[in-house]
Amino acid sequence: MNDFIIRQKNNIWYGSFPELEAAGFINACSCRLHGESSLVDGTLNLALHVGDDQAKVIANRRAFAAVVGVRAESFTTCGQVHGSKITNVTEALVGSGAVDFNSTIADTDALVTNLPDVPLLLFYADCVPVLLADKITGAIGLAHAGWRGTVAGIAGKTVEAMHEYFGTQPENILAAIGPSIGACCYEVDDFVLGKAPGYKAYFTPNGNNRYQMDLWGINTQQLLERGLRQQNITVAGVCTAHNAELFCSYRAEQGKTGRMGVCLCRPAVR
Ligand SMILES: [Zn+2]
Repeated sequence: MNDFIIRQKNNIWYGSFPELEAAGFINACSCRLHGESSLVDGTLNLALHVGDDQAKVIANRRAFAAVVGVRAESFTTCGQVHGSKITNVTEALVGSGAVDFNSTIADTDALVTNLPDVPLLLFYADCVPVLLADKITGAIGLAHAGWRGTVAGIAGKTVEAMHEYFGTQPENILAAIGPSIGACCYEVDDFVLGKAPGYKAYFTPNGNNRYQMDLWGINTQQLLERGLRQQNITVAGVCTAHNAELFCSYRAEQGKTGRMGVCLCRPAVR
């Protein structure tokens, strides 16, 4: 079975993890193709915080929601700040940031919930999306892990939050690491290395006095350290910078890009 499958429906392209689908979890990592963005013409930018036309972003979100099979009004988002704060999405927070940025859950980089029919939606362009789904309780977690979030341990902390709030046992979690910048393209300097003690093995010197940093490897290690099983962790292995025609890449486009969305949702009936 393929670990990560790219599909299209109504001209909206996105990738999904079949392992999560088989367990009943809707999951989708959007591609950049065929939207209405005016930021980068004709792309499927899903983020409201990057200076795009609001109505066009909402139209893109509706198109994405329709093909993925979730309600756009229920999209629950957070104002990602490359930190490691996690918020439990309770009834009162459902739909935060769905149609305007002001109502997004502020200062948060990961969301967890055990409510059904709540499509969590995070935004990224190179940063690592980490999807977590408890196949026993149905609780879900979604984390945004750029290098700062990664070295702050956000993936592992999200596992802890699921345990704390919902009683999730780590061995029951299916995890997936979505398209994001690979070690092939992610060159960093000594500053980043210095912030990541304990992860030196994931920095490969490239001969330029710099390093190729493996964010997928570090996030995987953190999940294993929290008790997830290796066979339950799927890495898409798709580099966004290498495939900038299909994905938004902050690096490859020198910062002038939209954001893709990663959506995770447990339907009421799965
Ligand atoms: Zn690459």
